[in-house]
Amino acid sequence: MPENKPEPAVGFVQRALGVFGYSRRALHLVWTTSRALTLTLALLTLVAGVLPALIAYIGQLIVDGVVAAMTSTSPDTRRVLWLVGLEAIVVTSVTASQRGISVSQSLLRALLGQRVNVMILEKALTLQLANFEDSEFYDKLTQARREASSRPLSLVTRTFGLVQNAISLTSYAVLLYTFSPWAVVILIGAGLPSFFAEAKFSGDAFRLFRWRSPETRMQMYLETVIAREDGVKEVKLFQLGPRLLQRYRDIFSKLFIEDRRLTLRRDSWGFVLGLLSTAAFYGAYVWIVITTISGAITLGAMTMYLVLFRQGQTAVAASLSAISGMYEDNLYLSNLYDYLGQPVPARTGEAKHGPHPERGLEFKDVSFNYPGSKVKTLTSISFQIRPGESFALVGENGSGKTTLIKLLTRLYDPTEGHIMLDGLDLQDWDVEALRQRIGVIFQDFGRYQFTVGENIGAGDVRYIDDAERWAKAAKTGMAAPFIEEMADGYETQLGRWFKGGRELSSGQWQKIALSRAFMRSDADILVLDEPTAAMDALSEAAIFDHFRSQSHNKMTILISHRFSTVRAADQIIVIHHGEILERGTHESLLAMNGQYAHLFKLQARGYQ
Ligand code: ADP
Repeated sequence: MPENKPEPAVGFVQRALGVFGYSRRALHLVWTTSRALTLTLALLTLVAGVLPALIAYIGQLIVDGVVAAMTSTSPDTRRVLWLVGLEAIVVTSVTASQRGISVSQSLLRALLGQRVNVMILEKALTLQLANFEDSEFYDKLTQARREASSRPLSLVTRTFGLVQNAISLTSYAVLLYTFSPWAVVILIGAGLPSFFAEAKFSGDAFRLFRWRSPETRMQMYLETVIAREDGVKEVKLFQLGPRLLQRYRDIFSKLFIEDRRLTLRRDSWGFVLGLLSTAAFYGAYVWIVITTISGAITLGAMTMYLVLFRQGQTAVAASLSAISGMYEDNLYLSNLYDYLGQPVPARTGEAKHGPHPERGLEFKDVSFNYPGSKVKTLTSISFQIRPGESFALVGENGSGKTTLIKLLTRLYDPTEGHIMLDGLDLQDWDVEALRQRIGVIFQDFGRYQFTVGENIGAGDVRYIDDAERWAKAAKTGMAAPFIEEMADGYETQLGRWFKGGRELSSGQWQKIALSRAFMRSDADILVLDEPTAAMDALSEAAIFDHFRSQSHNKMTILISHRFSTVRAADQIIVIHHGEILERGTHESLLAMNGQYAHLFKLQARGYQ
């Protein structure tokens, strides 16, 4: 629960000013997005701020002109009519500038939305996998993406609105000053309590909003599970729907109770303090009327002062609502800038070749724990794979096999020990050059809602549109036969998200993913993390044979629960709770009669 303890005055004032915290950065963002539009906006805001006072002033001249004309023997009607015409022109200018403001805002909104979205995505490209797996960070990213198009401009609009109202208020104050400085004090003073109340409640809303972000995200997630194609199957068959929906409702009810409490408190105080302003207004009204009756000011001046007072109060109210909105915008922007400011570890390595290619890949005493986790996922792992060798990892689920691949591909860095390629530490390799060397498919490989060709071509962006290479890779990955049977061949749209999309079976998707790995023709390290689980044993064996026969210098790393494939590897490692339990060839491991032999016999018995 957010606490509503009274806070020290300093903190409160800081927070009241915090509302402007990001205005400068938002303004900079808007300014660099389009200088012309920002200037137009600033200019029109100025115009729209000053003109209302001018209208009130002309009003005074008109009333006084009329009164003078009624009592005069030679009335100057033309002057009064001229003034009415002038007021019409000024009013039209106000309308025009307001329209101009809204046009500039619309255009800026579109430009800014795109710009911020691109900034968010560009940043995403530089982030580490670990960032995406950190829930707090992920919160920031989701919120940043969700409100990208509206918040920066909204903050700027509100800041401008505030400036406009401040200009108006100043011009009213200047005119009111001629009546009495006290009138200015009343006008501003009556607005102050509401201002502080608004700042306080907006602050509460701000904290409430930040604190509840995980709940909101859970709601978004539930929406996805209930209403998206990949969740629907299980939701229906396991009859999860009503239960999930109830959870969705419960979250809302919980949030709503807090919202309601805050809204009621905010609005009750708003009403009470608003009464204060009304009282001040009518007090001033009485004062102005009495002064007019006593003959100290003209009827026209009275009209003007009343208009000034009323409009002044409207301007104060508009400023208050702008301020409460600015808190929310600030929250969003603090998120956005936190996200954009996320430090990206400097890429140090530059090497594109290692000194000893014959040494292949070496893990030297590598240990690893995931950020924030105390247990070691991998402990003192050492092995070597020379060019041309094949290597298999065997172990139960959660024993650390995939983690090992993540270290090899530098999605994570080891906490202890070193990984060497061609005799050079991975840290010293240029990451792009390193990744060029590796073709990898994870268990949860991507199923892109693109065409077949792009799905395969994605394996090597340089050739993403190269149909000849697609076909070659598809042949190696054994995807070619079923692709060629499809009416549109490599142009077939995959997945169900887009019109005419075709869904594949799991095994077919795996073949597509395999073909994608084979697109990387320069890669000499092929990593297959249980990629063939949904594939028939025959295809699996054929694929490995093919890959091995292609080049004698390639290294393969295979993770599989299928011993028929594993047994062919030159080197097999059994991994258990992140440690190497046994190692050797199929024959030597069988002879050892340990865990490997046990598992192998279990599976072999299944086939007898
Ligand atoms: P395997 O591939 O052998 O099934 P993994 O390498 O995926 O196993 O997982 C090894 C261990 O690391 C498991 O206990 C898992 O819970 C943990 N783990 C996997 N991914 C993460 C992660 N991103 N953050 C924290 N722990 C993880």
